[in-house]
Amino acid sequence: MTALDRLVAGGTVTAAAQLAGLTTYKFGGPARWFADVGSMEELTSLLTAWRADGRPPALVVGRGSNLVVSDAGFEGLVIRLAGEFAEMVISSDGIVTAGAAVPLPKLARTTVKAGRGGLEWFIGIPGSVGGAVCMNAGGHGSDTREWIIDAEILAWSTGEVKTWGRDDLDLSYRHSAVSDDDLVLSARFRTVSRSPEEGEEMLREITQWRRLHQPGGTYNAGSVFKNPPGDAAGRIIDSLGLKGFTIGGASVSERHANFFEASHEASAQDVYDLVVAIQRRVREETGVELVPEVRFAGSFDPAPAVEGR
Ligand SMILES: Cc1cc2nc3c(=O)[nH]c(=O)nc-3n(C[C@H](O)[C@H](O)[C@H](O)COP(=O)(O)OP(=O)(O)OC[C@H]3O[C@@H](n4cnc5c(N)ncnc54)[C@H](O)[C@@H]3O)c2cc1C
Repeated sequence: MTALDRLVAGGTVTAAAQLAGLTTYKFGGPARWFADVGSMEELTSLLTAWRADGRPPALVVGRGSNLVVSDAGFEGLVIRLAGEFAEMVISSDGIVTAGAAVPLPKLARTTVKAGRGGLEWFIGIPGSVGGAVCMNAGGHGSDTREWIIDAEILAWSTGEVKTWGRDDLDLSYRHSAVSDDDLVLSARFRTVSRSPEEGEEMLREITQWRRLHQPGGTYNAGSVFKNPPGDAAGRIIDSLGLKGFTIGGASVSERHANFFEASHEASAQDVYDLVVAIQRRVREETGVELVPEVRFAGSFDPAPAVEGR
């Protein structure tokens, strides 16, 4: 029995856990091991077992809003932070310390209620603080880089926790220096003084804009491709008449060509195939190489030719 299997027997890790419910696409197969981790103590003992087992593939899932998990699942350890990692504190000088598992809309709402501004734009992004740091999430003219002070990051391989400043994080458009070996535990953000009324109005405007411009009530993971320099991936895809283009249960959204929507019957492979097909069409017809923003986890056929992990 492996060290992780012993944690399964002890009830802190689940074997063959379904991942579909953990992502906004709502598909994907099981993880060999899955753990909801609520405290540093739990995380430390989990990582000790993981190292003892020879470091099988590992994945952190935030709110799964940028993730396509393979239909075959993930042959390794998947963890999701919860408990103390879902807490946030606003200090008297307006600095927000948020655990990696804090949902971004909650970060927006809580700071607005406290009379703090700057983070309102997070209201429209259905991810977590950890995911936002990893992806340098952004929108409405702002991004994580603009407001973050630093982040606490644990290295899977050594268990060491370090504070990474903005420069260490190296945040740029949908990019960070956070690697497969790094687990974001929390982040600190600066805010500015803003009345709750003004903040509420901003939240309303952003929410309304999202309703008008993005598909709602469907399974998707937001923008599929990064925008190429000086252009918008959605504009290019739309210009080629590819709105509505479908493979299996996955389609290019009619409302926003850079969103790919999945039906209830869709598979992860459908989305993967659609990504590859659209990438190829755009390359052939415009010469532009679109780079996926969504992350693929597990195996696809053929192996994902995408950036990142
Ligand atoms: C409707 C919709 C609208 C969206 N709009 C936007 C938008 O306007 N702007 C934008 O930037 N994004 C947008 N997104 C994409 C997505 O919400 C962001 O990328 C978000 O930051 C992902 O956070 P998450 O917690 O869901 O990450 P996940 O999807 O769970 O994971 C994404 C990546 O981050 C890693 N990760 C997650 N948590 C941690 C952690 N604690 N430590 C280390 N690595 C971690 C994962 O391993 C994975 O590689 C949208 C998505 C949807 C569904």
